[in-house]
Amino acid sequence: MTRRIGIIGGGQLGLMIAQEAHRLGAFVSALDPSPDAPAFAETDSCIVAEYDDLKALEALGDSTDVLTYEFENVPGDILRHLEGKYDIKQGIAPLFDSQDRLREKNNARRHGLPTPDYIAVPECSADEDCALVPVILTDEQRIEELTKAVGRIGFPCVLKTRRLGYDGHGQEVIKNADDIPAASALLKVPCVLEGFVDFDYESSVIMVRDGENIIHFPIGRNFHKGGILDLSVVPAEGMYEGENESDTGRKITAACEKFMTECGYLGILAIELFVKGDEFVFNEMAPRPHNSGHYTIEGCTTNQYRELVRFLLGEPLNKPHLIAPTVMKNILGQDLEAAREISGKGVFVHIYGKTESRPKRKMGHITFVPCTLEQYRENWAGKFIYGNDY
Ligand code: AMP
Repeated sequence: MTRRIGIIGGGQLGLMIAQEAHRLGAFVSALDPSPDAPAFAETDSCIVAEYDDLKALEALGDSTDVLTYEFENVPGDILRHLEGKYDIKQGIAPLFDSQDRLREKNNARRHGLPTPDYIAVPECSADEDCALVPVILTDEQRIEELTKAVGRIGFPCVLKTRRLGYDGHGQEVIKNADDIPAASALLKVPCVLEGFVDFDYESSVIMVRDGENIIHFPIGRNFHKGGILDLSVVPAEGMYEGENESDTGRKITAACEKFMTECGYLGILAIELFVKGDEFVFNEMAPRPHNSGHYTIEGCTTNQYRELVRFLLGEPLNKPHLIAPTVMKNILGQDLEAAREISGKGVFVHIYGKTESRPKRKMGHITFVPCTLEQYRENWAGKFIYGNDY
């Protein structure tokens, strides 16, 4: 039976995968470029190396039975090589598809998930590989390309780099023509331009699929500050009627499960959505545990890390249930000290052990359970510097 898991990436997601793997009796090794990566505090062995260091990745594969990833930007050719040699149980397709916003959105549409209007800038054929799109443009040409694209999508819109964007990095909101010259600087690399979505709130659906069964975690409402997730509040209003999913909730989870199944993706997949009334649009996906799913550790009968590990170990999946209303607060550098002071019944503080604390860097999270948004506002929000204005 598989008992040794290798994780490509040693951040906080790797840390929490390793914690759950240990609870289930597995051995864990991780690879990360940083010698003080958070996951190394929990793993049985570690490899300090870059993500394109093939020999080091092979050493991880050679010393474990199954590989998984928590870092999304492992180069595609390296992934293909590893896939031929090792058991990457999730496969590389979901990772590869999520690495390019154009491919990701095309794929979502093809499998029935609505998206905002979008086009590639510079324009290219629908599935043109990002690396092949010519982007050697002068400043004037960039403005011209973007003006043409904005003419098709309309104001307001968002320009995003196709690759390597996260937490609002690599994107510019364009409200009117005055914003075009500054935003066009992003066009040093291939981008997508998409319509700005007027949503009620953001949500994510986190699923685990083993080929036989698919499970999803209860849906929360995600609050972002400055492009970074600040709070997840579960259950999201409108998604549930009592303990059961509402028609809207069922529509969304059914569409996400259909997408994952049709794509043939295995393992864990998080889909981020914008919700308006009973409609939704796809924003992006991540084939790894998701920040908004930290709440599942204490808020659900089983959590996203454990179900990923069960999948990796070939054990049957458990359907998760919400234990009680839950709020998860991300702790950025500016609130690390406040987080250390907080304690109480139903307050679960996770500090990731990153050696360098910076404002806007995710340093930990706190889960409050049972807790509603109103109770969070009343009892906890005022204790933090970042995101205390709910
Ligand atoms: P992303 O990196 O694509 O997840 O974007 C970061 C955040 O920017 C999202 O969580 C949203 O709050 C916001 N955002 C991104 N794309 C759009 C859009 N098309 N319309 C409105 N807000 C957006």
